[in-house]
Amino acid sequence: MAQYKTDRVQAENTEFTGLLTGILKCKACGSTMIHTYTMKKKKFKYRYYVCTSAQKQGISYCPNRSIPGQLLEDAVVKRLKDYLANKAPTMPVCQTEIEALLSPVWDTLFPAEKRRIIKQIVKEIDCNADTQRLGITFYDAEVRQEFDAGITRSRFKKQWKKEEQLQTEPSLRRSLLLAHQLRRLMADGTITGNKHAAELLGYNKTKIEHNMNLLMLAPAIQDEIINATPEALNIIAEYKVRDLSFEVDWKKQSDLWREAKRTAL
Ligand SMILES: [Zn+2]
Repeated sequence: MAQYKTDRVQAENTEFTGLLTGILKCKACGSTMIHTYTMKKKKFKYRYYVCTSAQKQGISYCPNRSIPGQLLEDAVVKRLKDYLANKAPTMPVCQTEIEALLSPVWDTLFPAEKRRIIKQIVKEIDCNADTQRLGITFYDAEVRQEFDAGITRSRFKKQWKKEEQLQTEPSLRRSLLLAHQLRRLMADGTITGNKHAAELLGYNKTKIEHNMNLLMLAPAIQDEIINATPEALNIIAEYKVRDLSFEVDWKKQSDLWREAKRTAL
C-alpha cells in the first residue's frame, strides 16, 4: 500500500512544474522567486520565475523582476552538469543523484523527477539579471559557486497564474512513457537493466519492475493510455492496471481494462 501512496503524491506533480521551485532566490533583493506561467486562448504559453517582492510590491521594488523559465532552467542544468563533471566534489550523500544528472537518462526524465534530483544536490540557487550571473549553493559543505550564465529578465506581466492551477499529467501515462524510455536505453546498452535504472533514478528496484511491467500491456491499451485525456486517466487506479499487466492473454487483458475503466466511474 505504501507504494500506491507514493504514486499518488507523485501524480500531483505536473509537466509544467518549475524545476527550481522552492530553491530559487532573488540575488537582487533576497526574496524567494516563484514559478509562474501565462496562458493564451486557454493554452499554456510561457513560464517565468518571478521575484515575490516585485510581484507583491511592484516592479520598482526589485530590479530582478522576472526571468524566463526555460532560459533559467537550461542555464542552471548546464552549469550544474559542467561543474559536477569537471570538479566532481565529494558528495557521497547524493552520489546517485549526481550520476543521474550526468547520465544520458537525465534527458528522458519527467520534470518532477529532475526536480527531485536537483533538490538532493543543490541547497539554493540565486540569480541576478543585472550581472547575468547564477549562484549555486551545493549541499556539499554548503559551498556557493558563481557562474556567468547569460540570464536576462523578461517583460513584467500582470496575468501570471499559480502553477497549482495547471492540469496534472497522469501518473499512469508518465510511468508507461518512462518504461518505454528505459527499455530503449536498455536495448542500446546505455543502462544494463532494472537494477541499474533504479540506481540511476534513485528509486527502489520494485518500483522500476512495476513500471516495466506496463510494457506487457496489449498495444491497444498502451495506445489508449498514451492518448487518453488526463481526466479519463486520472480516475483509473494505477495498481489495477499493474495487476492486469500480469494477465498474459491480451483478450482477457482488454476485458479487465474495460472493467477497470467501468468501475472507476
Ligand atoms: Zn527581488
